[in-house]
Amino acid sequence: MAEQTHRAELIDGRVAADAIKREVADEISVLKREQDVTPRLAAVIVGDDPASAVYVRNKIRACAEVGIASEHLPMPARTTTAELLAVVNQLNQDDDVDGILVQLPLPKQIAEIEIIEAIDPAKDVDAFHPMNVGLLALGRPRFVPCTPAGIIELLDRNQIPIEGATACVIGRSQIVGKPVASLLLKRHATVTICHSRTRDLPAVARQADILIAAIGRPAFVTGDFIKPGAAVIDVGVNKISDLDKAREIFGSDAERRIEAIEKKGYTLVGDVHPAEADRVAGKRTPVPGGVGLLTVAMLMKNTLQAARWRRGL
Ligand code: NAP
Repeated sequence: MAEQTHRAELIDGRVAADAIKREVADEISVLKREQDVTPRLAAVIVGDDPASAVYVRNKIRACAEVGIASEHLPMPARTTTAELLAVVNQLNQDDDVDGILVQLPLPKQIAEIEIIEAIDPAKDVDAFHPMNVGLLALGRPRFVPCTPAGIIELLDRNQIPIEGATACVIGRSQIVGKPVASLLLKRHATVTICHSRTRDLPAVARQADILIAAIGRPAFVTGDFIKPGAAVIDVGVNKISDLDKAREIFGSDAERRIEAIEKKGYTLVGDVHPAEADRVAGKRTPVPGGVGLLTVAMLMKNTLQAARWRRGL
């Protein structure tokens, strides 16, 4: 008798991201028509990190798609904290600027926390300022960081129930793990946050109806971490270039990934082992094509919100 193979349903990030961008574009055209307001985002990038350059380019492109005016402010890698603070202060004072984005990570000589704290909380569309972090922790979110907000959208738009569900978040970073745990808790999930000191991590993770991996380690979450039928959200973005590893991780998708490695020198893999997750999970997000697309869409949504709130609309 043929062996029965289960394959998790893929959660398509593009469908949700396109829907959100369409909704934002519609709301922006109403705002323009009725209030003569065009939201504006300023994106500051320091240095020439290629990954950061791609992220900022994608954000600027999304602005054009939805009708947000944008300015791209590149600064040299040797920029000092004082020089970057001066730019942030100028953007804070510019009444035409609704959202300020300083692409992270910053070069080592810059005091990142000073920059984050200098951004006007009303223009803090990345939601990293302590005021916005605090409001979220209090359960009264104003701006919500884009990746965690995108994860909740993905769950909602794919009919994955949150209330009453057991959720496990692996990773406790300020930009993903902690805020997504706060949002799940606000939506009445029972939430466990795991990290590098968690004992018997697979056993803890295996309790979860919703498993979120935000670790930064390629294919770390294997089948034994996953409760059968669980929804698995893979936040990780890692590069691998080892052909044998690609063959092992990607299963039936391996040939396409190997071609990518031979052409570009690498392929992207999340924190979840895709072939193993496919055998156990009910649904899972792919990498690429999952959470990452939502991050950009939610930045557009936050910029629209900033434009409204700053004008009391
Ligand atoms: P981070 O700040 O480096 O945090 C990683 C977290 O993972 C830490 O809390 C760490 O625990 C935990 N961890 C590391 N090794 C572990 C292990 N062996 N067992 C259990 N936990 C472990 O990372 P991040 O900024 O949250 O990013 C995580 C991943 O998401 C990265 O791949 C990043 O590129 C990706 N990301 C994607 C998007 C997107 O839009 N798709 C956005 C942001 C980030 P400790 O606290 O104990 O050290």
